[in-house]
Amino acid sequence: MTQNRQTKYIFVTGGVLSSLGKGIAAASIATLLKNSGLKVSILKADPYINVDPGTMSPLEHGEVFVTDDGAETDLDLGHYERFLDENLSQLNNFTTGRVYSSVIEKERRGDYLGKTIQVIPHIVNEIIDRIKKAGEGNDILIVEIGGTVGDIEGQPFLEAIRMMRVELGKYNCINIHLTLIPFIKAAGELKTKPTQHSVGELRRIGISPDMIICRSEMPLNRELKDKIATSCGVEKNCVIESFDSQSIYQIPLLFLKQDILTPISEFLNLGDLKVDMSNWDSLVKRVIAPTKEVKIAFVGKYVDLKESYKSLTEALIHAGANLDTRVDIKWCDSEKIDDQNVDEIFKDIDGILVAGGFGNRGVDGKIQAIKFARINKIPYLGICLGMQLCLIEFAKNVLNLEDANSVEFDVNTKNNIIYLIDEFIDNSGKKQIRTYQSPLGGTMRLGGYECKIKQNSLLFEIYNQKNIKERHRHRYEANPKYRSEFEKYGLIVSGESDGLIEAVELKDHPFFIGVQFHPEFTSRLTRPNPVILGFMKASLKNVR
Ligand code: GLN
Repeated sequence: MTQNRQTKYIFVTGGVLSSLGKGIAAASIATLLKNSGLKVSILKADPYINVDPGTMSPLEHGEVFVTDDGAETDLDLGHYERFLDENLSQLNNFTTGRVYSSVIEKERRGDYLGKTIQVIPHIVNEIIDRIKKAGEGNDILIVEIGGTVGDIEGQPFLEAIRMMRVELGKYNCINIHLTLIPFIKAAGELKTKPTQHSVGELRRIGISPDMIICRSEMPLNRELKDKIATSCGVEKNCVIESFDSQSIYQIPLLFLKQDILTPISEFLNLGDLKVDMSNWDSLVKRVIAPTKEVKIAFVGKYVDLKESYKSLTEALIHAGANLDTRVDIKWCDSEKIDDQNVDEIFKDIDGILVAGGFGNRGVDGKIQAIKFARINKIPYLGICLGMQLCLIEFAKNVLNLEDANSVEFDVNTKNNIIYLIDEFIDNSGKKQIRTYQSPLGGTMRLGGYECKIKQNSLLFEIYNQKNIKERHRHRYEANPKYRSEFEKYGLIVSGESDGLIEAVELKDHPFFIGVQFHPEFTSRLTRPNPVILGFMKASLKNVR
């Protein structure tokens, strides 16, 4: 640990093209530094104009990750939390849209005392202030700049990190640039030219990278690494390879093997870092080569776009690693499930998972899957919409309420099992008006809320706690009007939050749980989420 409490910054930029895994590289470095005893945080600065990704389609931007304090953020924040095992907040992700909104708000308030508002200095200063705010109280802040060097909208962000480097001086900042080293099949060669051009582009705007991370399909030989060092003007031990690996959790270990901490420590004057990755290492071994296997049916409507369920698929991997089990996910497009094919689809499945979602596309297929799990006593975990639909399925097929539905899908349904409320009764019996107003209209319950667990329930056995806190992202709620009827027939409410139904389970079933919250948002490789771990254990028992 350094004597100096000045936060030090590691800026990570990307070159050549997007989707090279900048987020994983940043999270990997953060993990190594945290496991060396430093206090590390991480920030994603996104140059796009949306104020946050909350309104973006998952097809457009992958999953929307929700922080404990209720921010809807980029999916890279999910990777950061899963690697770092820290709760991040709305300070850890901002966009151009957010920056402009606050500058314009200040301008309207007269904070700039009549000055002309310009990109330089006002927008750039706002970016710098936000980076510094996220860094407060940490030894190191890793700042990932979204997009690729050369993007027009990225320029103010790059100018901000250039200026910070000038201001903070030696030992306080480094620039890491991640690029692609493509393999050209016809020539049978890995090519360094795009990297040289990308570094040239960075230099043109006044940033010289200290370290280059090379993403490639295969390992690079020493000669190639040295060529990159010479042509890009970095030290030879500052060219780090990041080739395609079986698991993203191998990347910190791959970096460590190349002794990435030595140059980082020299640049930032961090002294002799002693890193302990032994626990991580043994978990990674069980991700890559576990001894057991379990087949989980993942029922959703975006199964072609697995990025939209990133946190959940990672959470299954975490639980699997802890149980020395490979999770074989069978992706089931809910739009293609009907009462004719349901038995065939799920015939050798060990557990069924219905994920969250919005809108009525594929809802009938999800209900078929739930019915199959309930009747055949297959372990079932329903998340958010997956909980709401298991109540609808139960109401339809056990309580015989044929038109049972959510008002999300039918506003006029007589049996509104899932309904929209804008007021609720809190613990003290007082009426409360909900405050989480969504800009799209209606209400959105976002972020971490406490949930009280009913003793003697399966959920209590799993969490072994009376009170838990999990994260939410939903507009609709289970209607308490039907609660006693549900309980009469064996579906009990096992979790509640200020009078809201947070979790349900079936009494007469080995594992049938629906949760209104998203347990996947709090799962980490080193600390899997209890209800997902419980579901996997139950599914493992079911392996034939
Ligand atoms: N569409 C449902 C709601 O808004 C469920 C949301 C979700 O699964 N995240 O309440």
